[in-house]
Amino acid sequence: MKVFISVDMEGICGVVGDRETDPENGGDAYRMNCHRMTAEANAAIEGSLKAGATDILVADSHWNFDNLVPEELNPSARLVRGYPRPFSMVQNLDGSFDAVLGVGYHAMAGTTRSIIDHTFSGKIRSVEVNGRVTGETGLNAYVAGEYGVPVVLVTGDSAVAAEAKALLPRVHTVAVKEAINTHAATHLHPQRACDLIRAEAERAVREAAEIEPLVASRPVAMAIDFKGTEGADWAELVPGVTRVGGTRIEFSAPDFGAAFRIFYACMHLSSSE
Ligand SMILES: [Zn+2]
Repeated sequence: MKVFISVDMEGICGVVGDRETDPENGGDAYRMNCHRMTAEANAAIEGSLKAGATDILVADSHWNFDNLVPEELNPSARLVRGYPRPFSMVQNLDGSFDAVLGVGYHAMAGTTRSIIDHTFSGKIRSVEVNGRVTGETGLNAYVAGEYGVPVVLVTGDSAVAAEAKALLPRVHTVAVKEAINTHAATHLHPQRACDLIRAEAERAVREAAEIEPLVASRPVAMAIDFKGTEGADWAELVPGVTRVGGTRIEFSAPDFGAAFRIFYACMHLSSSE
Protein backbone atom coordinates (compact mmCIF):
# COMPACT_ATOMS: atom_id res chain seq x y z
CA MET A 1 0.00 0.00 0.00
CA LYS A 2 1.32 3.43 -0.99
CA VAL A 3 0.82 6.50 1.20
CA PHE A 4 1.54 10.14 0.36
CA ILE A 5 2.16 12.53 3.27
CA SER A 6 2.15 16.30 2.64
CA VAL A 7 3.63 18.27 5.55
CA ASP A 8 3.17 22.00 6.17
CA MET A 9 4.41 23.94 9.20
CA GLU A 10 1.71 26.41 10.34
CA GLY A 11 -0.46 23.62 11.75
CA ILE A 12 2.31 21.91 13.71
CA CYS A 13 1.83 21.79 17.50
CA GLY A 14 3.57 24.79 19.09
CA VAL A 15 3.64 27.02 16.00
CA VAL A 16 1.83 30.37 16.27
CA GLY A 17 3.86 33.17 14.68
CA ASP A 18 4.62 34.17 11.08
CA ARG A 19 8.26 34.88 11.82
CA GLU A 20 8.94 31.47 13.41
CA THR A 21 7.79 29.79 10.18
CA ASP A 22 10.13 31.95 8.04
CA PRO A 23 13.40 30.18 7.12
CA GLU A 24 15.18 33.50 6.49
CA ASN A 25 14.11 35.45 9.57
CA GLY A 26 12.88 32.81 11.98
CA GLY A 27 16.22 31.95 13.57
CA ASP A 28 16.26 29.39 16.38
CA ALA A 29 12.45 29.38 16.65
CA TYR A 30 12.16 28.39 12.97
CA ARG A 31 14.77 25.64 13.38
CA MET A 32 12.94 24.30 16.44
CA ASN A 33 9.78 24.13 14.34
CA CYS A 34 11.63 22.10 11.69
CA HIS A 35 12.29 19.43 14.34
CA ARG A 36 8.66 19.55 15.52
CA MET A 37 7.48 19.28 11.90
CA THR A 38 9.71 16.26 11.36
CA ALA A 39 8.41 14.62 14.55
CA GLU A 40 4.78 14.98 13.42
CA ALA A 41 5.68 13.68 9.95
CA ASN A 42 7.27 10.66 11.64
CA ALA A 43 4.13 10.07 13.71
CA ALA A 44 2.09 9.95 10.49
CA ILE A 45 4.67 7.62 8.89
CA GLU A 46 4.61 5.29 11.91
CA GLY A 47 0.81 5.14 11.93
CA SER A 48 0.79 4.43 8.19
CA LEU A 49 3.32 1.64 8.61
CA LYS A 50 1.18 0.06 11.36
CA ALA A 51 -1.77 0.13 8.95
CA GLY A 52 0.22 -1.75 6.33
CA ALA A 53 1.84 0.95 4.19
CA THR A 54 4.77 -0.44 2.24
CA ASP A 55 5.77 2.68 0.31
CA ILE A 56 5.61 6.16 1.83
CA LEU A 57 6.42 9.40 0.04
CA VAL A 58 6.67 12.56 2.15
CA ALA A 59 6.38 15.98 0.48
CA ASP A 60 7.90 18.87 2.41
CA SER A 61 5.19 21.47 1.75
CA HIS A 62 6.11 24.67 3.59
CA TRP A 63 7.73 27.84 2.22
CA ASN A 64 10.60 26.67 -0.05
CA PHE A 65 9.79 23.03 0.72
CA ASP A 66 13.09 22.36 2.50
CA ASN A 67 12.21 22.34 6.20
CA LEU A 68 12.03 18.69 7.26
CA VAL A 69 15.28 17.34 8.71
CA PRO A 70 16.13 14.39 6.41
CA GLU A 71 18.36 12.59 8.95
CA GLU A 72 15.57 12.64 11.54
CA LEU A 73 12.88 11.34 9.19
CA ASN A 74 11.78 7.71 9.56
CA PRO A 75 14.02 5.73 7.15
CA SER A 76 10.99 3.95 5.69
CA ALA A 77 9.94 7.09 3.83
CA ARG A 78 11.31 8.89 0.79
CA LEU A 79 11.26 12.69 0.74
CA VAL A 80 10.21 15.18 -1.95
CA ARG A 81 12.26 18.27 -1.06
CA GLY A 82 12.90 21.55 -2.89
CA TYR A 83 11.30 24.21 -5.02
CA PRO A 84 9.74 25.11 -7.44
CA ARG A 85 7.45 22.28 -8.44
CA PRO A 86 4.22 22.47 -10.45
CA PHE A 87 2.02 20.48 -8.09
CA SER A 88 3.37 22.18 -5.02
CA MET A 89 2.24 20.45 -1.80
CA VAL A 90 1.28 17.20 -3.57
CA GLN A 91 4.12 16.95 -6.06
CA ASN A 92 4.71 13.40 -7.37
CA LEU A 93 1.34 12.17 -6.18
CA ASP A 94 -0.23 9.89 -8.81
CA GLY A 95 -2.80 7.15 -9.19
CA SER A 96 -0.52 4.49 -7.75
CA PHE A 97 -1.13 5.89 -4.24
CA ASP A 98 -3.89 4.67 -1.93
CA ALA A 99 -4.15 7.59 0.49
CA VAL A 100 -3.04 11.18 1.13
CA LEU A 101 -2.37 12.54 4.62
CA GLY A 102 -2.01 16.28 5.30
CA VAL A 103 0.05 17.06 8.42
CA GLY A 104 0.60 20.52 9.92
CA TYR A 105 -2.08 22.07 7.72
CA HIS A 106 -3.75 25.44 8.35
CA ALA A 107 -7.16 26.94 7.58
CA MET A 108 -7.99 28.98 4.49
CA ALA A 109 -7.50 32.76 4.30
CA GLY A 110 -10.12 34.65 6.29
CA THR A 111 -10.91 31.93 8.84
CA THR A 112 -11.77 33.28 12.29
CA ARG A 113 -9.70 31.93 15.20
CA SER A 114 -7.22 29.94 13.16
CA ILE A 115 -3.42 29.98 13.26
CA ILE A 116 -1.83 31.84 10.29
CA ASP A 117 -4.85 31.42 8.04
CA HIS A 118 -3.92 31.85 4.38
CA THR A 119 -4.43 30.21 0.98
CA PHE A 120 -1.03 29.65 -0.63
CA SER A 121 -0.11 33.36 -0.53
CA GLY A 122 -0.57 36.41 1.65
CA LYS A 123 -1.90 38.25 -1.42
CA ILE A 124 -4.98 36.06 -1.82
CA ARG A 125 -8.28 36.77 -0.07
CA SER A 126 -10.09 33.68 -1.35
CA VAL A 127 -10.06 30.94 -3.97
CA GLU A 128 -13.19 29.32 -5.38
CA VAL A 129 -13.53 25.94 -7.08
CA ASN A 130 -16.85 25.57 -8.90
CA GLY A 131 -18.29 28.33 -6.74
CA ARG A 132 -17.11 27.00 -3.39
CA VAL A 133 -14.48 28.85 -1.35
CA THR A 134 -11.61 26.42 -0.92
CA GLY A 135 -8.38 26.40 1.11
CA GLU A 136 -5.15 24.49 0.70
CA THR A 137 -6.72 21.32 2.13
CA GLY A 138 -9.40 21.33 -0.56
CA LEU A 139 -7.13 22.38 -3.43
CA ASN A 140 -4.74 19.53 -2.63
CA ALA A 141 -7.67 17.14 -2.17
CA TYR A 142 -8.95 18.05 -5.65
CA VAL A 143 -5.52 17.34 -7.18
CA ALA A 144 -5.52 13.99 -5.39
CA GLY A 145 -9.07 13.41 -6.63
CA GLU A 146 -7.87 13.70 -10.25
CA TYR A 147 -5.84 10.57 -9.56
CA GLY A 148 -8.65 8.87 -7.66
CA VAL A 149 -6.79 9.13 -4.35
CA PRO A 150 -8.66 10.17 -1.16
CA VAL A 151 -7.36 12.52 1.54
CA VAL A 152 -7.84 10.42 4.68
CA LEU A 153 -6.22 12.50 7.43
CA VAL A 154 -5.75 16.23 8.06
CA THR A 155 -3.94 17.52 11.16
CA GLY A 156 -3.44 21.09 12.37
CA ASP A 157 -5.50 23.43 14.51
CA SER A 158 -9.18 22.87 15.28
CA ALA A 159 -10.16 25.32 12.50
CA VAL A 160 -8.48 23.35 9.71
CA ALA A 161 -9.92 20.16 11.17
CA ALA A 162 -13.42 21.66 10.86
CA GLU A 163 -12.66 22.95 7.34
CA ALA A 164 -11.51 19.49 6.27
CA LYS A 165 -14.59 17.80 7.76
CA ALA A 166 -16.93 20.23 5.99
CA LEU A 167 -15.46 19.33 2.58
CA LEU A 168 -14.44 15.70 3.17
CA PRO A 169 -17.07 14.08 5.38
CA ARG A 170 -15.12 10.88 6.06
CA VAL A 171 -11.71 12.40 6.59
CA HIS A 172 -9.99 11.73 9.91
CA THR A 173 -8.64 14.77 11.75
CA VAL A 174 -6.38 15.60 14.66
CA ALA A 175 -6.51 19.07 16.25
CA VAL A 176 -3.16 19.66 17.96
CA LYS A 177 -4.08 23.21 19.05
CA GLU A 178 -7.07 25.51 19.37
CA ALA A 179 -6.56 29.07 18.18
CA ILE A 180 -7.37 32.05 20.38
CA ASN A 181 -6.59 34.32 17.45
CA THR A 182 -4.34 34.06 14.40
CA HIS A 183 -1.12 34.11 16.49
CA ALA A 184 -2.13 32.55 19.82
CA ALA A 185 -3.42 29.09 20.65
CA THR A 186 -3.86 26.53 23.37
CA HIS A 187 -1.67 23.54 22.53
CA LEU A 188 -1.46 19.90 23.39
CA HIS A 189 1.92 18.72 24.59
CA PRO A 190 3.98 17.99 21.43
CA GLN A 191 4.40 14.37 22.47
CA ARG A 192 0.66 13.99 22.95
CA ALA A 193 0.10 15.56 19.52
CA CYS A 194 2.41 12.97 17.95
CA ASP A 195 0.68 10.13 19.80
CA LEU A 196 -2.72 11.24 18.47
CA ILE A 197 -1.40 11.71 14.91
CA ARG A 198 0.20 8.23 14.98
CA ALA A 199 -3.03 6.59 16.16
CA GLU A 200 -5.31 8.52 13.79
CA ALA A 201 -3.01 7.96 10.79
CA GLU A 202 -3.23 4.23 11.44
CA ARG A 203 -7.06 4.34 11.58
CA ALA A 204 -7.28 6.58 8.52
CA VAL A 205 -4.97 4.51 6.32
CA ARG A 206 -6.78 1.30 7.31
CA GLU A 207 -10.02 2.90 6.09
CA ALA A 208 -8.54 4.40 2.91
CA ALA A 209 -10.24 1.99 0.50
CA GLU A 210 -13.68 3.05 1.84
CA ILE A 211 -13.07 6.82 1.61
CA GLU A 212 -14.19 8.58 -1.59
CA PRO A 213 -11.75 10.86 -3.41
CA LEU A 214 -12.84 14.49 -3.90
CA VAL A 215 -13.38 14.94 -7.63
CA ALA A 216 -14.05 18.40 -9.10
CA SER A 217 -16.87 18.44 -11.64
CA ARG A 218 -15.71 19.31 -15.18
CA PRO A 219 -15.07 21.71 -16.71
CA VAL A 220 -13.56 23.23 -13.58
CA ALA A 221 -14.43 26.88 -12.92
CA MET A 222 -12.09 28.75 -10.60
CA ALA A 223 -11.91 32.28 -9.24
CA ILE A 224 -9.30 34.13 -7.22
CA ASP A 225 -10.08 37.23 -5.20
CA PHE A 226 -6.90 39.09 -4.30
CA LYS A 227 -6.45 41.39 -1.32
CA GLY A 228 -5.49 44.21 -3.68
CA THR A 229 -5.81 45.17 -7.32
CA GLU A 230 -2.10 44.55 -8.02
CA GLY A 231 -2.54 40.82 -7.53
CA ALA A 232 -5.25 40.75 -10.19
CA ASP A 233 -3.14 43.06 -12.41
CA TRP A 234 -0.46 40.36 -12.52
CA ALA A 235 -2.73 37.33 -12.66
CA GLU A 236 -4.68 38.59 -15.68
CA LEU A 237 -1.49 38.22 -17.76
CA VAL A 238 -2.03 34.45 -17.78
CA PRO A 239 -3.72 33.34 -21.04
CA GLY A 240 -7.32 32.25 -20.47
CA VAL A 241 -7.73 34.31 -17.32
CA THR A 242 -10.53 36.92 -17.28
CA ARG A 243 -10.46 40.02 -15.09
CA VAL A 244 -13.97 40.35 -13.70
CA GLY A 245 -13.42 43.02 -11.07
CA GLY A 246 -10.79 45.14 -9.38
CA THR A 247 -9.42 42.30 -7.32
CA ARG A 248 -11.02 39.26 -8.96
CA ILE A 249 -10.05 36.96 -11.83
CA GLU A 250 -11.80 33.86 -13.20
CA PHE A 251 -10.83 31.00 -15.48
CA SER A 252 -11.94 27.51 -16.40
CA ALA A 253 -10.05 24.37 -17.35
CA PRO A 254 -11.00 20.90 -18.62
CA ASP A 255 -9.82 19.14 -15.45
CA PHE A 256 -8.47 20.05 -12.03
CA GLY A 257 -4.86 19.28 -12.94
CA ALA A 258 -5.01 21.96 -15.62
CA ALA A 259 -6.96 24.30 -13.34
CA PHE A 260 -4.39 23.95 -10.57
CA ARG A 261 -1.53 24.88 -12.91
CA ILE A 262 -3.34 28.10 -13.94
CA PHE A 263 -4.13 28.86 -10.30
CA TYR A 264 -0.52 28.28 -9.27
CA ALA A 265 0.83 30.48 -12.08
CA CYS A 266 -1.59 33.28 -11.07
CA MET A 267 -0.62 32.88 -7.41
CA HIS A 268 3.11 33.14 -8.16
CA LEU A 269 2.74 36.08 -10.55
CA SER A 270 0.66 37.95 -7.99
CA SER A 271 3.32 37.34 -5.35
CA SER A 272 6.02 39.03 -7.43
CA GLU A 273 6.86 42.47 -6.08
ZN1 LIG B 1 3.29 26.60 5.20
